[in-house]
Formats: sequence, structure tokens, C-alpha cells
Amino acid sequence: MHVTAIIAAGGSGRRLGAAVPKQLLELGGISLLQRSVEAFTTHPAIADVIVALPAGLAQNPPAWLSGIRVVEGGERRQDSVANAFEALSEASEIVLVHDAARPFVTPDVIDRAIAGAAAHGAAIVAIPVSDTVKRVTHAAHADGVIVETLPREEIVLAQTPQAFRRDVLKAAIAVGRTEATATDEAMLAERAGHLVHVVAGDAANIKITTAADLETARDRVAPSASTVSRVGVGYDLHRLVEGRPLVLAGVMVPSDRGALGHSDADVICHAVTDAILGGARAGDIGQHYPDSDPKWKDADSLALLRDAVAIVRRRGWNVANVDVVVILERPKLAPHRPAMEERLATALGLATDAVSVKAKTNEGVDAVGRGEAIAAHAVALLTRLTTPTND
Ligand code: MG
Repeated sequence: MHVTAIIAAGGSGRRLGAAVPKQLLELGGISLLQRSVEAFTTHPAIADVIVALPAGLAQNPPAWLSGIRVVEGGERRQDSVANAFEALSEASEIVLVHDAARPFVTPDVIDRAIAGAAAHGAAIVAIPVSDTVKRVTHAAHADGVIVETLPREEIVLAQTPQAFRRDVLKAAIAVGRTEATATDEAMLAERAGHLVHVVAGDAANIKITTAADLETARDRVAPSASTVSRVGVGYDLHRLVEGRPLVLAGVMVPSDRGALGHSDADVICHAVTDAILGGARAGDIGQHYPDSDPKWKDADSLALLRDAVAIVRRRGWNVANVDVVVILERPKLAPHRPAMEERLATALGLATDAVSVKAKTNEGVDAVGRGEAIAAHAVALLTRLTTPTND
């Protein structure tokens, strides 16, 4: 099956306020036109491509178009497509028409258009609407007044490519030569009495019409910002004494002993706070929340942690994940692990799957092993986006 693609780029519209025709505006250094043409020249099912350009450009086409058939566009889109159709190879069986202003068309979308035309004679790619659709009149008031609400399941938004069996497009073009301006080839095929099928388009296959569209498109092709990562490590140890609560990651753990300290003596929060501050080279917990300051007496260590997150964020860092090892002989922490991870995640502004708390004993060795103390180690990964150097 010989498939030809016609790229409709005959307009010289400068609606976007640029000094060059819209199709020559660049995305990441490559014009809309080149991106659109190359989507078809690189597609394995496309045998040849014909590009309809404004007269001036057609006479002096850019070098990258060498080897690609170029025709002069006409006054209207349908005239440009008609001129391209005149240049069609004898062998062409299926003809696709595509707007140069849709540079994000994908191979899948092209495949679906071809398959639709091969099966039914005519097919366009289109997307459903999610907004409620109103038909309005401006006759009664310039603002527009609703005439009716259309059933949106009966509405699709037509994109390109639009694909036709050669004879169907020929009939559509014949209609277009004598009739009023059409906004797409499907409209002419409909007027010519052909059924036009609809196949799935792609929301990303946008038509670049406004300055905002162009900006969206440029963002999409911008080199992705690279990420800088830093790790921070934190450690804390508190004595365990009778008559104190055992608070770990903000969770009250039933225990006959608790950690002695100025604040709630939450070793997990303290280790994580130091890891975060360390990763951003933002000092340590003692510097930001000194024992000597009565403000932090019996402080909720989750609040310190939240504050530390705010400190590093102000320096441009985001916490990516945190891993903790807590060491104590008893009680067993496993039942409290989900709650501890959840509390930490909330304080860190992370998903729970980015926070891990693991518990170990010290096998009876040393003060921790004798149950005289509890310790925690934490590692935090911090990331920051770097600004891309080229736009
Ligand atoms: Mg501490």
C-alpha cells in the first residue's frame, strides 16, 4: 500500500506576532515545519511526502527539504492541498493530510489514520471533549448567548493527520475548488458525500495557534532540567530512663523506659533532622534548636523536623527520601513501624514509600545493648533542579 503524506504549510499567517510565518517558528532550534515533515519522512509506512509552502518559501526552500517534493500553496488551505494532490505519485493509494502546526504527531497516531482510511476510505484522528459543550449565538448579545447544550459524547475535536483513499480525497478536493472555505479536508469529504470515520487522536498532538501554545510546546522540547543530588547523614543517642515516655518519629511507643532529654528526646526525628540539614550544608540541630533555648523545652521533634525541611527548601533543596536505622534492645518496634514512617513522611512532605524506618538490637553489647540508651542513624537524599542553560 503506497501512502503519501501532504504537509499543509501554505499559510503565511503571522498570528503569533513573529517576524516569520508560523510554520517556521522554532521549537528547540527546529522549526514546526521540519518537526512535522520529519514525523512523516521517518515513518516506515509513508512512501513519500509532499509539502505545500507559501510561494516565496516554495521557490527557495530550506536546505533540509532537499529531496522532498515541494509545491506552492494556494490562497486557502484547501487550495494548497489541491496543489499538492496534483503532484501526487501515480502509485499513491492512501493520502494523509497533516497541519504543519502540529509538530507532536506520533507514529501511533499516523498508523491509526492510515489503518482507518484503508478500512473505511476516510478517517480522521480526533479526541473526545471533557468540557461541557455549548452552542452559542452572538446575535442577541456580543458576549454570546447559549442556544443549546450539545451532548458531549457526540462531540470530538478533529486533529490531523486526516487520511483518505485517493479517490475520496480527489472528490473532496473537487468540492473544495468550487465551494466555500473548509477548515479541514474531512469537511470537504463529508460535503462530497463520503462517510468519514474517527480514530483515536492524541491530546499531545496540539495545533500551535496562539503564543501560549507556542510556549507550551517550547517547554515540552526544552532540555529537561538536570538534577543535583546531595546526601546528608544524621546520628543521635539518648539515655533511656524510667518514668519518661518513649517517643519515636512522633509515635508514643509503650515502654517501661523512655529517652532522657530536653525535648521529647525523639532520636529518630533528631537523626533525620540532622541528615536533612547536613545534606544542604545548613548546620545542625544543636545550632538551630539549642538546648539552651526554653522555646524547645519538651518540643515536639516533628515540629523541628518540619522546620528543618523549610530551612533546606528555602535553600532550594527538596528531600527525596529518608532511611533510618534505630537501635534499641526493647521493646520491639516492628508493630509501630508503619505509624512511624507515616508520621515522618507527613512531616517531610513525602510519600510514605520515600521513608523507611528499620529497627535493630545491639545484641546486648555496650550501653545500647544493655538497654541504657537508644540510638538512631539516618540518611537523607536531597535534590535540586538546575536551570537548563539553553532554551
Ligand atoms: Mg537528640
